[in-house]
Amino acid sequence: MSPSSSTPARPPVLRTLRRLGSFLAPYRRRFVFAGVALLVAAACTLAVGQGLKLVIDRGFTAGNGAELDHALFGLLAIIAVMAIATYVRFYNVSWIGERVTADLRRHVFNHLLTLSPGFFEVTRTGEVISRLTNDTTMLENVIGSSLSTALRNIVLGAGALVLLMLTSLKLTLLVLAGLPVVVLPIIIFGRRVRRLSRTSQDRVADTGAYVDEAIHEIRTVQAYAHEPEDRHAYGERVEAAFGAGVRRIRQRALLIAAVIFLVFVAVGIILWIGGHDVLAGRLSAGQLASFVFYAVIVATSVGTVSEVAGELQRAAGATERLMEILDTPAEIAAPADPVPLPEPPLATVALEQVTFTYPSRNDPALSALTLSIAAGERVALVGPSGAGKTTLFQLLLRFYDPQQGQVLIDGVDVRRADPRAVRGRIAVVPQDPVIFAASVWDNVRYGRLDASDDEVRDACEAAYATEFLTRLPRGFDTDLGERGVRLSGGQRQRLAIARAVLSRRPILLLDEATSALDAESERMVQLALDRLMHGRTTLIIAHRLATVVGADRIVVLDDGIVVAEGTHSSLVRDDPLYRRLAALQFGFDAGAGDAVPAIALARQGIAKQSSL
Ligand code: ADP
Repeated sequence: MSPSSSTPARPPVLRTLRRLGSFLAPYRRRFVFAGVALLVAAACTLAVGQGLKLVIDRGFTAGNGAELDHALFGLLAIIAVMAIATYVRFYNVSWIGERVTADLRRHVFNHLLTLSPGFFEVTRTGEVISRLTNDTTMLENVIGSSLSTALRNIVLGAGALVLLMLTSLKLTLLVLAGLPVVVLPIIIFGRRVRRLSRTSQDRVADTGAYVDEAIHEIRTVQAYAHEPEDRHAYGERVEAAFGAGVRRIRQRALLIAAVIFLVFVAVGIILWIGGHDVLAGRLSAGQLASFVFYAVIVATSVGTVSEVAGELQRAAGATERLMEILDTPAEIAAPADPVPLPEPPLATVALEQVTFTYPSRNDPALSALTLSIAAGERVALVGPSGAGKTTLFQLLLRFYDPQQGQVLIDGVDVRRADPRAVRGRIAVVPQDPVIFAASVWDNVRYGRLDASDDEVRDACEAAYATEFLTRLPRGFDTDLGERGVRLSGGQRQRLAIARAVLSRRPILLLDEATSALDAESERMVQLALDRLMHGRTTLIIAHRLATVVGADRIVVLDDGIVVAEGTHSSLVRDDPLYRRLAALQFGFDAGAGDAVPAIALARQGIAKQSSL
């Protein structure tokens, strides 16, 4: 790499295109096939010029009708071959374009799935989607069309040049002398086009990211009557994208104009000199005609190549961005030689002196935290908002690695194991369960893909979900993404519980919903959870009194450290922070020594804001 390049961080076009070449490699044969077709078609085009010369010199000038017929039939045959060869070239090259794009999309998507949640915190979804769709579409165009146009014109131009030389060396030298004048602006403007094309794509990605957020949060946008601001902010982004586009187009237009002007001036000069040669008898009329034919081919091919060069530059920009994603290392990955987790599972969880700071933060979310949970134990996590409860779950699932200390699942440091194996031991029931736009079968089977229909039914039964699921319009076949199929909060939770039951994973991470359910729903969810927790090592972010009372142990977190541990009654007696939280979050009135259910529900509404 040349260190003098103005943008040293970016790889040169050639290297980028070479990486793209590795995606083309599997289709080498088809490429060669298309290449042969391209050569045949180019040869035919060039032969047309020779035919033209024969028609004029032998037919017209010699006044020979039979020769004229002959020459014309020859021309027709050549044109037929050319048409077939063009079909073969076009079909195969476009096929390769589509294929490589499909491969790239899958590659990039597969890689995205390996990246840790940390990556998606700093990269906006809209931008990633834009790269996957827009950048790959651009590559499809370039590989499927521009690249073959460029190749065809290079071959044609080179062939035409050889034939020019055979016709008149003097004039050809003039053509060659004119070439650098054409090439120079291509290099200068081409570089600018490439730079601006990247900016332009980034601006387009900005608009995508904004739409993504606004549409995603449409209820908040409308509830706060925020539309005018969004309209304005989106408008600004669109205009920025337009501005960047215009700057790129201007450079590109200049590029094309310069090339056309220079090429035709050069051709004009050559024709002028060639015309004098014919007048002086140094060149036949047929030769001049074919010379004009080939000169036009050279001119157009140089012009076309220069235009396509701009597109290749843009493609290089698109490829760079895609390669950037592919080059982003997965921060959380399996070690070369992962330690297998014990079989059968121990179902133990431990954190030893764990200190963890989010990459975007300075203060640790967890500080020297030590916690050990025995098999089958039910531990409730309690603490004010921001205490680090959710962070603890994230570390257990190995979405992040701690800076100090270690996280042990089944006695194995999760960093030494395959993350998939670690996660395979943990069932998660989040606060707001995700329901996919798929059938009930698929939604529950998300927990374990090879589960039989009976197993899915049993899991739903265990989660007290069968009753409402069978009442859906098409029972278990109902698409839960369809309009009109809306599950209530309690139903969604029971579906998520069924998923967790089905997964048969020995460790359960449960983030209790804070939203108040009606009494009946609440009871069903509680029953379902009791069944789910049975026989599993459970860690619960607790929001309900029943949970903390039923837990084997309660761990009180504050500011990333464990401030107290014990049972509900011992903590109420000894720990002021717990007493306060219990009163606020669970409606537990320590003074009265009892729970006040009505207040409890109302206060859980408050707890939703205070603890999350
Ligand atoms: P809790 O679940 O107990 O309410 P969290 O574990 O969510 O608390 O948060 C602990 C601390 O880490 C808080 O200070 C919070 O602001 C911070 N935090 C949580 N998630 C992130 C994140 N993705 N990036 C940066 N900081 C975060």
